[in-house]
Amino acid sequence: MIEINPSPIQTIRFRGRSFWIKRDDLLHPILNGNKARKFHTLLHTPSHLYRRIISHGSIQSNALYALSYLTKQKGWHFDYYVKTIPKFLKCNPHGNYLYALRNGARIIENQSLPEVLQEGDCFVPEGGAMKASEEGIAQLAQEIKDQMGEENPIIFLPSGTGTTAYYLQKHLPYEVVTTPLVGDEAYLLEQFRALEGKKRLPTILESQKKYYFGKLYREFVEIWVELRQTTKLTFDLLYDPKGWLVLTAHLPRFEGRSILYLHQGGLSGNESLLKRYKREFDEDFI
Ligand SMILES: *Cc1c(COP(=O)(O)O)cnc(C)c1O
Repeated sequence: MIEINPSPIQTIRFRGRSFWIKRDDLLHPILNGNKARKFHTLLHTPSHLYRRIISHGSIQSNALYALSYLTKQKGWHFDYYVKTIPKFLKCNPHGNYLYALRNGARIIENQSLPEVLQEGDCFVPEGGAMKASEEGIAQLAQEIKDQMGEENPIIFLPSGTGTTAYYLQKHLPYEVVTTPLVGDEAYLLEQFRALEGKKRLPTILESQKKYYFGKLYREFVEIWVELRQTTKLTFDLLYDPKGWLVLTAHLPRFEGRSILYLHQGGLSGNESLLKRYKREFDEDFI
């Protein structure tokens, strides 16, 4: 059985200011970050209840790798639906895609999800955007409350589906602040509402420049390198760069408040992104 223990909080200094970092990247070598939180319930489901997990999403997603590992531990089959597998990746498998294959994931391209589930099937929506993710995120909220004591910090995290931000806000007395990576503010609000709606919602901040999810931007890799050099911490290269750009751009708004940045793990995704950055800018960033 995989044991997930509370993750530590540490302080860093970045651009002349200090930040608390909740190190969910340290939860476990593979099952870490918000995927470990979201799949907590699945991890604690008795093996005999399911035979197969069915999910879908992008080909290099952290959820793909996390689920492939989890299903392997459980002895469940794992079918993962993607639009298409890029040719270069098929010829040269690497990153989360490769690790998921090694864990026995069946990656299915160009097919729609099965319309009817069979007995023993469990469907996991893209990125774990589901009610079942609440329990693990509520546990994260409890850890943060226990660790922060009398502090009243702002909790900052970048969002994909917004599931982590939404349930954190539901279970925390502090203000949760996020920025959307996929789509805009309207999309993220829709995601929040699809989970439950009506509850107190996280604050959404935007960048001035419009960024497209999964695209490469020089300022993304630059702030990622700067963080790595000045804090000695490695962040995720897909979500965290926009997270830090937006957070640092809005700092005057948080004058006098302490800020806790949630490190959501996902470092296994950096391998394929670094390869893409190297090809795009013809430069080694580490
Ligand atoms: C999945 C993931 C996210 C997005 O989480 P949501 O709950 O979908 O908003 C952010 N950062 C990292 C590192 C992730 O792996």
